[in-house]
Amino acid sequence: MCGIIGVIGHKDVASEIINGMTTLQHRGQDAAGVVTFSGTFKLKKGNGQVSTVFKDVDLKALSGYSGIGHVRYSTMGSTDAEDAQPIAVNYPFGLAMVHNGNVVNFKELRKTLYEENHRLVDTSNDVALILYTFASVLESKDLKNLSVDDIFDSVEEVQKKVKGAYSAMTIIANHGFLAFTDPYGIRPLVMGRKFTDKGVVYAFASESTTFDYLGYELMHDLTPGEMVFIDEKHQVHTRIGKTKKQAFCVFEYIYFAREDTTIYKRLVASERVRMGKQLAVTFKKSGLQPDIVIDVPNSAYFFASGLAEGLEVPYRRGLAKNSHMGRSFITPNQQAREKMVKQKLNPIRDIVVGKKIAVVDDSIVRGTTSKRIVQLLRDAGAKEVYFVSASPPIKHPCIYGIDMSVKKEILASNYKIDEIARYIGADAVVYQSLEDLEEMYSDLPICHACFSGKYPTGISKELLHEIEQEKLGSNRV
Ligand code: AMP
Repeated sequence: MCGIIGVIGHKDVASEIINGMTTLQHRGQDAAGVVTFSGTFKLKKGNGQVSTVFKDVDLKALSGYSGIGHVRYSTMGSTDAEDAQPIAVNYPFGLAMVHNGNVVNFKELRKTLYEENHRLVDTSNDVALILYTFASVLESKDLKNLSVDDIFDSVEEVQKKVKGAYSAMTIIANHGFLAFTDPYGIRPLVMGRKFTDKGVVYAFASESTTFDYLGYELMHDLTPGEMVFIDEKHQVHTRIGKTKKQAFCVFEYIYFAREDTTIYKRLVASERVRMGKQLAVTFKKSGLQPDIVIDVPNSAYFFASGLAEGLEVPYRRGLAKNSHMGRSFITPNQQAREKMVKQKLNPIRDIVVGKKIAVVDDSIVRGTTSKRIVQLLRDAGAKEVYFVSASPPIKHPCIYGIDMSVKKEILASNYKIDEIARYIGADAVVYQSLEDLEEMYSDLPICHACFSGKYPTGISKELLHEIEQEKLGSNRV
């Protein structure tokens, strides 16, 4: 998963973009990059968090009234700084691009680009595939008289050819700024504006929270297949391109997006409380009676508060978190991950001692985190521990940009619920049910492939296997 931001203004935008990227830092900490445009592209990117990459940045060297920024959380491909986004090409016109998501048919695209368009794409970076596909369609247009329709037609070709999840932004040198989404609208992208004495400034970002910080008014969420082009005169053009039945990633609400973000008019925090209340209904059916509900900080707080409310049991903070540690999930191996969980979380002894505890986390993937947490709570004197997962059992890898390991390591794809409870050492495990989750989103069609194995774009067994092998090869399990 990644975070992206773009600004089309009337004065230099680099510092605003860099500030905005820090508000998206939770979406990726591997690498960060910015490109601005002022006659030529000015690019700076590197490995690490925004504060590291842009620590001594010379803002004058990043001049330009429009720009795009990216924070990377790599799921596939290399982790070289060079492969970080944005990337830029100089023909036609000069194009720079960022995207959030994951391209599924990368091999096929690479082959087509070579055989039909004579472009050698020698990177495993999927934004390059989107960019080169776009460039190769665009260059077939009448470039002297390029119209907005030509640009939108080219995006529609991209939407036809590129399978997967992508919310993307492109600067087309001396022509304007383009944003678009895949036909299913899997990843979020919002558009906002700000009125200044020089005119309207437009911005796009992965999450609305960025606009709160930067003072933009949220205009709308880009819908599946939507394209927005802002020309040099700041005129806004839109078209709905190729669309399929919407499949918005529900894991954005569950885990990825920040709690103060609004997606499709739903505040993430409220969604989590709602899911917590629904969990209470399922939990009651188990007949278990906890003394307190606690959360695994930080993303599970709102689920836990909803669950506690639904169960009429007190919510307490039972685990303290050292927030200056990286994410347990992204560390390279199991042993390192286990050690990290221990360094990251510490039980608040007096709260948990002698209690029957319902501990809520957003998800169980490999079970490393939950196993350690159950042990920590038991060591601190908990009487019984019920592990509650706000998401339904994760059984299938995500191929749309969320790093979820490979099938053989995903606990629920190999074990039943009571076996999982035994494995993580809990007295019981309670999951959100997929049916309930679907019911909760009956008015916003969601992608639930990681729970159901129903991939909205469709995927062959062979390709799924290939993606898993690539993951194993890149050591990102
Ligand atoms: P695991 O230890 O493998 O069961 O991972 C579950 C933990 O990782 C939970 O505490 C989640 O908050 C967190 N998590 C789940 N999905 C992701 C993800 N895609 N990237 C980073 N962290 C995740």
